[in-house]
Amino acid sequence: MSLMTGEQYIESIRAMKMNVYMFGKKVECPVDDPILRPSLNSVRMTYDLAQLPEYEDLMTAVSPYTGKRVNRFTHIHQSAADLVKKVKMQRLLGQKTAACFQRCVGMDAFNAVFSTTYETDKKYGTNYHENFKKFMMYVQDNDLTVDGAMTDPKGDRSKAPHQQADPDLFLHVVERRADGIVVRGAKAHQTGVLNSHEVIVMPTQSMKPEDKDYAVSFAVPMDTPGITMIIGRQSCDTRKLENTEMDVGNSEFGGVEALTIFDNVFVPNDRIFLNGEAEFAGMMVERFAGYHRQSYGGCKVGVGDVLIGAAAVAADYNGAAKASHVKDKLIEMTHLNETLYACGIACSAEGHPTESGNYIIDLLLANVCKQNVTRFPYEIVRLAEDIAGGLMVTAPSEADFRSPELGPVIDKYLRGVDSVSTENRLRILRLIENLALGTAAVGYRTESMHGAGSPQAQRIMIARQGNLEHKKALAKALAHIKE
Ligand code: SF4
Ligand code: FE
Repeated sequence: MSLMTGEQYIESIRAMKMNVYMFGKKVECPVDDPILRPSLNSVRMTYDLAQLPEYEDLMTAVSPYTGKRVNRFTHIHQSAADLVKKVKMQRLLGQKTAACFQRCVGMDAFNAVFSTTYETDKKYGTNYHENFKKFMMYVQDNDLTVDGAMTDPKGDRSKAPHQQADPDLFLHVVERRADGIVVRGAKAHQTGVLNSHEVIVMPTQSMKPEDKDYAVSFAVPMDTPGITMIIGRQSCDTRKLENTEMDVGNSEFGGVEALTIFDNVFVPNDRIFLNGEAEFAGMMVERFAGYHRQSYGGCKVGVGDVLIGAAAVAADYNGAAKASHVKDKLIEMTHLNETLYACGIACSAEGHPTESGNYIIDLLLANVCKQNVTRFPYEIVRLAEDIAGGLMVTAPSEADFRSPELGPVIDKYLRGVDSVSTENRLRILRLIENLALGTAAVGYRTESMHGAGSPQAQRIMIARQGNLEHKKALAKALAHIKE
């Protein structure tokens, strides 16, 4: 089996016995939980779209390793054209879900680990690249979803991993055995971990030799003993328990995050991709972050498309679509959104091969892309709220709207243009609320800020990649300066 259907994917996750907690209780069946199910549906879309002939070119690729057609989310990029298709695929999925569809993290980890293991082996004679290739082909053959886990809790930010009061604040190797390693620690903010078959763990930052036990990368199935997930709270999450799909705004799709604990988890030797070669931790982090910063030039743009569309519909329903300032705000939103897309496409088109042969984005442009993502979605949301009007946060609940006594009153007083039902007006405002302030705001706003690295992480990379000396030389040459 090379491509799973959406239904097969859901059932394959259902069959896994994962250790998940939420609101102080163990979740016995995460797949059927009303708060968690929308996030599973978002990942499902990566399977459903891959089944459709019209999306075959974007959603799938032929693996040079297995010779079979695989989901692009499990593909090792073979060209700059592959990198461009990746961004287009992510925009499409953002448009279809208006949520984080989660599977990109594994794809980005795949490509970062592929090239880093190759270079680590070259220097140290280790066997990590073969380990990784074996794992990658297993994932491709079975069309698995893989989470990429990078961010450690990090404790006191002024201290290195080995200096922390609690050594587990960075995930580390606690025991080396003949058949593998035992690791302990946690990974924070893991979107998609709950809906993944496997997780690739990577170091969270560059490491010095003293931190070699923390320079570790590996893959394990998500139902491995010792792994526990604690689901994060989201604004308005319990609306999903109220049987009021209208109030949820986007009832079908979403994303959830989990604090993921690794309590003495055993990793067999053939699943290890880095184990103490501290100098390569930085390379893995930089490459993964670069790929994921490229990703945001696709996924956030697709969600932005939905938000711009929703704002335009709200303007129609309010009778404000012809106002010149409203038109101009929609133009500004489009300009900002397409600027993000331009960055995503540019860093892809300028991609180049690594020593291992897979393609990597232009790192400077990928970091510029993500730096813009830390800003523009906030402005797009601001403009959407401006156009939507205050009703997006003051409208009565669906229960009131459905009540025989109150419903007619709400219907009468909250109508916009006469030709549009009050229900439709409220529905579009709830979608905007969901993206701006509700569960989806985690993915569209705060994740835009901190996902794939907080703004300062990109500024450090921009400083490193910006080649200021070259720019100074250009200026001196034109000014005829001889030093
Ligand atoms: Fe994919 Fe975007 Fe979610 Fe990252 S934030 S996993 S790129 S959808
Ligand atoms: Fe993300």
